[in-house]
Amino acid sequence: MKSNITILGGGLSGRLTALMLARQGFSVSLHDKATRAGEESAAFVAAAMLAPMAEAVDATPQVLSLGYQSIDIWKNIIPTLPEKVMMQFSGSLIVWHPQDKDLSTRFAQYLRHGHQGKETWINWNQDDINQNEPQLTNRFAHGFYLPTEGQLDNRQTLNALASGLEAAGVDCHWQSSPNLESLIGKDAWVIDCRGFGAKQDWNQTQKSQLRGIRGEVARVFAPEITLNRPVRLLHPRYPLYIAPKENHIFVIGATQIESEDNSEVSVRSSLELMSSLYALHPAFGEARILEFLTQLRPTLNHHDPEIRLHRQKKVMSINGLFRHGFMIAPAVCEAAVRMLNQEINGENPQKDSITGLPLNIVE
Ligand SMILES: Cc1cc2nc3c(=O)[nH]c(=O)nc-3n(C[C@H](O)[C@H](O)[C@H](O)COP(=O)(O)OP(=O)(O)OC[C@H]3O[C@@H](n4cnc5c(N)ncnc54)[C@H](O)[C@@H]3O)c2cc1C
Repeated sequence: MKSNITILGGGLSGRLTALMLARQGFSVSLHDKATRAGEESAAFVAAAMLAPMAEAVDATPQVLSLGYQSIDIWKNIIPTLPEKVMMQFSGSLIVWHPQDKDLSTRFAQYLRHGHQGKETWINWNQDDINQNEPQLTNRFAHGFYLPTEGQLDNRQTLNALASGLEAAGVDCHWQSSPNLESLIGKDAWVIDCRGFGAKQDWNQTQKSQLRGIRGEVARVFAPEITLNRPVRLLHPRYPLYIAPKENHIFVIGATQIESEDNSEVSVRSSLELMSSLYALHPAFGEARILEFLTQLRPTLNHHDPEIRLHRQKKVMSINGLFRHGFMIAPAVCEAAVRMLNQEINGENPQKDSITGLPLNIVE
């Protein structure tokens, strides 16, 4: 058996990292303050879109590259889990109303810019949209189809990862929240995957600073409506997305507010979310609202993810997955696991050979 590893925080990055390490033969234990369902994590609320093409509008080149690498890793991991997870790669569709044509021109510029000037999308006309998304027939004259994109069901993923951990022999402690310091020096490596929950410890150094960015989503049930892929509606006031999950459940999101207030969804945000849904198709007017949820996205000031190492304390930290956790976590966690192995073998890693992610040493 290899070294003992304790993972603190079993949201998305914690579960993935624990699984990767356990499957390599490490003896892994995991603590999360919430239950096995993961209801305190950003991952529990997320739409779980895997959208490195569309995110070119808002993400760094590093994040886009990690996003593309992660798609293949998800395709390898998901089929190995003990439970079924909805994983769809049917692309995504961007639409807009005629009065918002200028927004589509700007969106196309961002897409091109994020992909070295290449047109990575396919222009769809009304017939294409009618044929591929019959429910949107004659509602939009033009759209951008982004073929490589996909999505997961976030809650199925969290559950299936938990089952995968149990099957791999990980000692899971749900509703357990030990202090980070209390885990140090027990002859085990500690990996801090607490997302926003790590803020106080993370911000003790003068390096990058961690903050939360508020995001709000709605979940609705619309038995009359079928969409074959996530749809983004370009709109000057509420540029939002609708991600169809199984059984006619739709996740509508997400606001992005510079605030660490994690309280319930505001009236204003709920109106904007529902307006975008209704603007996509009035038939959503009869949908039933299941949930309005808020969570904080763990965000670093440079908006890239980071892997840190405190050598003396034997603590590695993974954080800053921001609004892209599902999109990039597989590549980030694999990089962390590779560098941890090198560290244990005395190779003093400085940078991950595959993703190029640096290992940031803290004292
Ligand atoms: C509204 C919204 C929509 C999103 N949509 C998408 C999307 O479509 N695509 C995408 O790629 N990403 C999306 N994201 C981002 C994604 O959810 C996050 O980037 C990702 O969940 C971060 O993973 P993490 O493991 O760092 O943190 P989390 O998933 O938040 O997990 C952190 C875990 O640490 C635990 N924890 C915290 N403190 C302690 C403690 N003291 N002791 C024990 N456990 C602790 C928490 O309970 C939690 O389970 C979205 C996020 C939000 C909020």
